[in-house]
Amino acid sequence: MKNIVLFGPPGAGKGTQSERLIANFGFAHLSTGDIFRRNIKGNTPLGSLASSYLSKGELVPDRVTIDMLEQEFDTSASGSGFIFDGFPRTIAQAEALDAFLGGKNNQIHVMVAIEVPEEELVKRLLLRGQESGRPDDANEEVVRNRIKVYEEQTARVAGYYGAQGKFRAVNGLGSIDDVYERLIGAIGL
Ligand code: ADP
Repeated sequence: MKNIVLFGPPGAGKGTQSERLIANFGFAHLSTGDIFRRNIKGNTPLGSLASSYLSKGELVPDRVTIDMLEQEFDTSASGSGFIFDGFPRTIAQAEALDAFLGGKNNQIHVMVAIEVPEEELVKRLLLRGQESGRPDDANEEVVRNRIKVYEEQTARVAGYYGAQGKFRAVNGLGSIDDVYERLIGAIGL
């Protein structure tokens, strides 16, 4: 049983690689972005709260995000462990996650960052915007703001796990297979 934080900027390939890891190892997937989008589509109160943040590329407030994540964790079957995708995105979220898992005699075992240069990210996200219709991918200003928010608020979470000796990074350029092989190696699967 392994709990993994898949880390990296928007467009790094976290969702794509999560799918493979789940298919091959049976992890449960907790993607905060997916959960917000599901709630927006379903017109839930959480969805209407979150949508203004998503449409601007800003972070949803920590308290809302943490409560949602904890509830989702408690109602998921754990199988081989969890992949946290898009969470934690702030130090406060990382601390809350440690406290929450610690209370269950559980923990994060490893954080793996997928590293991709900014211009490649913008290219990938705008392409995904054309193909998937995800509105926060279709607008270059929102895409650039998400990368800025990542650099200003989220990148430092790597140092949080680094201080616990749990941080690894892999090169996110190359084919999906290449990146997957690097991830397997870094996670130790
Ligand atoms: P990305 O491809 O930008 O990494 P995600 O699907 O992970 O996209 O997240 C989309 C949006 O959902 C973010 O821009 C943010 O508004 C919101 N969001 C997702 N995860 C979090 C989080 N942990 N804390 C706050 N907001 C979040």
